[in-house]
Amino acid sequence: MNIILLGPPGAGKGTQARKLVDERNMVQLSTGDMLRAARTSGTEMGKMVAAVMDRGDLVTDEIVIGLIREQLESDNPGGGYIFDGFPRTLAQADALGRLLLDMGENLDCVIEMQVDDDALVDRITARATCKDCGEVYNDNTKPIPADGKCSNCGSSQIERRADDNEESLRTRLMAYYKQTSPLVGYYYAKGDLKSVDGLASMDEVAESIARALG
Ligand code: AMP
Repeated sequence: MNIILLGPPGAGKGTQARKLVDERNMVQLSTGDMLRAARTSGTEMGKMVAAVMDRGDLVTDEIVIGLIREQLESDNPGGGYIFDGFPRTLAQADALGRLLLDMGENLDCVIEMQVDDDALVDRITARATCKDCGEVYNDNTKPIPADGKCSNCGSSQIERRADDNEESLRTRLMAYYKQTSPLVGYYYAKGDLKSVDGLASMDEVAESIARALG
């Protein structure tokens, strides 16, 4: 089964993708994580996208489609793919459709995670992530353990993302509404869309997603 998690920054796509990986043996393809990895390892592409990402704008379709193509060509998981943070433009959505078709695969479901904008700003400015395992913390609902070590993997590398500040969040939200939200209509018209309330608790959202996937 191949699915897309669609929603604005802070909707909980990464958190839910990680649960699906654990529970359904699926592979998470997060273009945001791939771009951050390229920056950390200092590749030319990583250097090129750094400022764009920190500002909160989208990097070019060509770059992210290339990253996804590489991943799709390199492994073929039994449980299928979870696309997290991709596609974000209509051109990316068309490209993904073509890539899957070429592989003889289908897109089975697009889950739209709905959340209101005030909640996003609160969530994102309170967010921290374990650099080693991706566990997500929140100052209000799931604070970083007092010893500073990740409760999932024990790493002490819990960090706040450079773009998780109010200013770049506004730009990211604007990019979402201008460039990504048309995908809701696009996938609705294709008959692939299911919407869930992303403001419910993490477990409730996971249950809604499980129901949507059938
Ligand atoms: P994310 O971790 O999904 O919030 O992505 C972090 C940043 O990476 C975004 O604000 C964009 O600058 C960039 N990015 C991630 N995925 C995409 C994409 N599919 N298209 C364009 N830019 C992306």
